[in-house]
Amino acid sequence: TVRTRVAPSPTGDPHVGTAYIALFNMCFARAHGGQFILRIEDTDQARSTPESEQAILDSLNWLGLQWDEGPDAGGDHGPYRQSERMAIYEKYARQLVDQGNAFVCYRTAEELNELREAQRAAGSSNALKASDLRLPEEEVAKREAAGEPYVIRMIVPEGEGACVVEDMLRGTIELDWSMVDAQILLKSDGMPTYHLANVVDDHLMGITHVLRGEEWINSAPKHKLLYEYFGWEMPQLCHLPLLRNPDKSKLSKRKNPTSILYYQRMGFLPEALLNYLGRMGWSMPDESEKFSLQQMQDNFDIQRVSLGGPIFDVEKLSWLNGLWIREDLDTQQLAQRLTEWAFNEENLKKVLPHAQKRMETLSDFAPLASFLVSGTLPITEDSFAAVKGEREDVVKGLQFALWRMEALQQWNRDAIWSELKAVADAHGVKVKDFLAPIFVAIAGTTASFSVVDSMEMLGPDMSRARLRHAIT
Ligand code: ATP
Ligand code: GLU
Repeated sequence: TVRTRVAPSPTGDPHVGTAYIALFNMCFARAHGGQFILRIEDTDQARSTPESEQAILDSLNWLGLQWDEGPDAGGDHGPYRQSERMAIYEKYARQLVDQGNAFVCYRTAEELNELREAQRAAGSSNALKASDLRLPEEEVAKREAAGEPYVIRMIVPEGEGACVVEDMLRGTIELDWSMVDAQILLKSDGMPTYHLANVVDDHLMGITHVLRGEEWINSAPKHKLLYEYFGWEMPQLCHLPLLRNPDKSKLSKRKNPTSILYYQRMGFLPEALLNYLGRMGWSMPDESEKFSLQQMQDNFDIQRVSLGGPIFDVEKLSWLNGLWIREDLDTQQLAQRLTEWAFNEENLKKVLPHAQKRMETLSDFAPLASFLVSGTLPITEDSFAAVKGEREDVVKGLQFALWRMEALQQWNRDAIWSELKAVADAHGVKVKDFLAPIFVAIAGTTASFSVVDSMEMLGPDMSRARLRHAIT
């Protein structure tokens, strides 16, 4: 039976790209009467967080995607979280060493730099291979006895030649072995790299078809070789086109909001977002623009995916969302959606402590809090009338703030505060003056409650989008 999977890394906000890949995997599995699995690839311990994992599960659930097996759903092929499978990867890495397909590498960071320098000096752009990296046996024994750190690397073909992989959409792809380095499989801390863990898990979890983003094409030769070394059948590969910004560049949070949480907060309906993602590179046989998940599943044919980079255009998404709001919800249902979305007790309880201090009547609430339930604010130059300084300097300040906020990983009021204070200090500006334009960008006015609390409530993508909007 057909088994597909989506394998997100929990290292940030849940990405619309993850939902897109999950949707196609799920439709492919369902269309073939198979199963769809969710696996968490959290071997990057420094960047993975349980909050991010939870946000991914919640967002995919919110969209209405359902997996048959996963860390929350269980299943016969678990655990479905890679951090709980360490012993498995270690065992398979050792097997490759024993078979002579991988080797223990004691090279230090300095030595690796020197080797790369030497290659560069010799004008060769080739990857580092086992023959470059291997140390004499006595040296290996010496370093081993000294308990020095090591990694396990795979052996890849040296010299001329190409690796040939088949892609369900792209046909035969040839990739030169000369570009492929002796990939680390097991790191010095005992953690596997993506390549080892991904191949081992896809095999043990019985995955038959791997539908993933085209950014992984270059990894295919390494994976193919690993399947050969293990003597396992390789799943069929299908590299889906990446989502793009309207300017055709890869969709990235520096240009467009990429977090599912942003689209949720903007008030998009999950059905509409899923419908729009389904139209990314794919179309219904009758070319209809509006379709449900069920309809997509029933009509799914992977060969209808076109490879031209699909453009994720928020205006088109809004148009489609409008159709869903007007055509698929009655007043009762719309009221319920609004309540679930923002006008619920949990949400009010977050806002009220801030608003209450400034309220004389209950009717003061809506104007005070409207920015928290709005999308893009109607900001003009006049909005900055109460802000001191030249427009040019105001824009510069906002730009610095935006850069900091784009880089910020932990999104909470304290982290936001210390970042913003650091920029203000670095520029010798009083924090109060530095924050004034940020108030305008985030809340539309300087007369609002704490801007860092507001940003925490709005979330990273909405906050960044508003800063960006205020600059342009
Ligand atoms: P950004 O450039 O916005 O920082 P990123 O590439 O760093 O994005 P990741 O956090 O690495 O984003 O990716 C999260 C998930 O989203 C990955 O599974 C990745 O494959 C997927 N993804 C990222 N960008 C795209 C895209 N443009 N189209 C489809 N999937 C994407
Ligand atoms: N963890 C990888 C990612 O985040 C999975 C890639 C794959 O599907 O092989 O995209």
